[in-house]
Amino acid sequence: MSLTLYLPLDAAALALGADEVARALQTEAEARGLDLMLKRTGTRGMVWLEPLLEIEENGLRMGFGPLEPADVPALFEGAFEDHPKALGPVEQIPFFARQTRLAFARCGIAEPLDLDAYRAQGGLKGLDRAMTMTPEEIVAEITTSGLRGRGGAGFPTGIKWKTVLEAGGARKAVVCNADEGDSGTFADRMLIEGDPFCLIEGMAICARAVGADRGYVYMRSEYPQAIATLDASLRIAREAGILGDHFDIEDRVGAGSYVCGEETALLNSMEGKRGTVRPKPPLPAHKGFMGRPTVVNNLITLASVPAILSEGAEHYRSFGLGRSLGTVPLQIAGNVRRGGLFEAAFGMTIGELVEGVCGGTASGRPVKAVQIGGPLGAYFPRSLFDTPLGYEECDEAGGLIGHAGLVVFDDTAEMGAMARFAMEFCAVESCGTCTPCRIGAVRGIETIDRILAGDPAAPEILTDLCETMRAGSLCALGGFTPYPVESALRHFPEDFPPAREAAE
Ligand code: SF4
Repeated sequence: MSLTLYLPLDAAALALGADEVARALQTEAEARGLDLMLKRTGTRGMVWLEPLLEIEENGLRMGFGPLEPADVPALFEGAFEDHPKALGPVEQIPFFARQTRLAFARCGIAEPLDLDAYRAQGGLKGLDRAMTMTPEEIVAEITTSGLRGRGGAGFPTGIKWKTVLEAGGARKAVVCNADEGDSGTFADRMLIEGDPFCLIEGMAICARAVGADRGYVYMRSEYPQAIATLDASLRIAREAGILGDHFDIEDRVGAGSYVCGEETALLNSMEGKRGTVRPKPPLPAHKGFMGRPTVVNNLITLASVPAILSEGAEHYRSFGLGRSLGTVPLQIAGNVRRGGLFEAAFGMTIGELVEGVCGGTASGRPVKAVQIGGPLGAYFPRSLFDTPLGYEECDEAGGLIGHAGLVVFDDTAEMGAMARFAMEFCAVESCGTCTPCRIGAVRGIETIDRILAGDPAAPEILTDLCETMRAGSLCALGGFTPYPVESALRHFPEDFPPAREAAE
């Protein structure tokens, strides 16, 4: 008897014991004289079910999880559907079935370094088409699709590419920002570990569109598994002629600074300089890496490109809401029952996602707040749960969608402490270039401490300070820190003690 099994090699699955399950599977199969074909894939993104084993049966992939080594022997006894961890067909699990997967369409299905499997699943179709188009036509296609930067700024990708295409200069570069530092986010890592050729294809299309001969992927040192997978995939892509003298990609590994996720600090870091923010202008599109015109795009932006080229801009823009077109890989973490990656068209409401899809908190207590957009994102209370997840919609509600990370808190969370943490985070991660952030964050911690101690003068000082940081900071680290601070104060006043005089 020959069986084909699939088990993720993704860092989250490994952390939850996937390798131990793999060893148990091999041992059990040997003991029974079975011929086992175990394929190590990326993850499907349903983290609460990891390690999630899939067994192919009658053309369907049946899921079992979260699996422990002790669950393995029962897989080989009786019918699969009788196993206590049986989940049925994986793609029919509601969390998965409700998604619209474009960027993550292949993630978790095949082995990440199997280029033939990538091609068989529609990979390289977008690049093949791009090779028949002029650079201007490719840029027009991206512009029509409505794709915007998935790193958080939401800047139209087509305009950025057009600027680099039209910039003078003998050499240009494409830089993938994979410095995924926001709390609760893991989409960049998951894509590289599960479908690295998708990123390579997106970067190759971008290079053809703007005339770049070099690409760089700036990654976090905290992602060793992703770095190894990317390096191996780059070698394979070179051997296959996808990369070469015409366009090649190398990776650059950061040293753990949050602000290096800001594009100009990232470029400094890539050039071997201290990771501090550069004033703009000049824009990186005019003068970026080593002074060359450079596209700096978030990894998810670039990973969205192959589907746009292969299926067409109109197909892509048929998803979404208002000016937020296409899909967004939402990453749900924190105190949540069913956490993971959920790629969907823009427009789902916060409540529908967190309570409908994800089932509320893991603790079983009521959801108190959801922080959206990383450590600099606003806290959304339940009263704003009907806010659709879109760039403008989150902005109108006083927040931002950022890199689409959502961290869920139950009703035991103390929002005064969370507001203080935001200022503390800014103080620790500040690059020190500008005063509102470098000094303001330290004063912010002191001022929140005064509020928590009941000082009646402190709230007004904090409001002034937030205004100064927002208006006077050179980059989003200082400029966005007021989001979590002010949203905590605005929506959860009960978590800040009344001023002493009022109390007395
Ligand atoms: S806001 Fe903060 S991180 Fe950004 S440039 Fe100013 S000091 Fe540096």
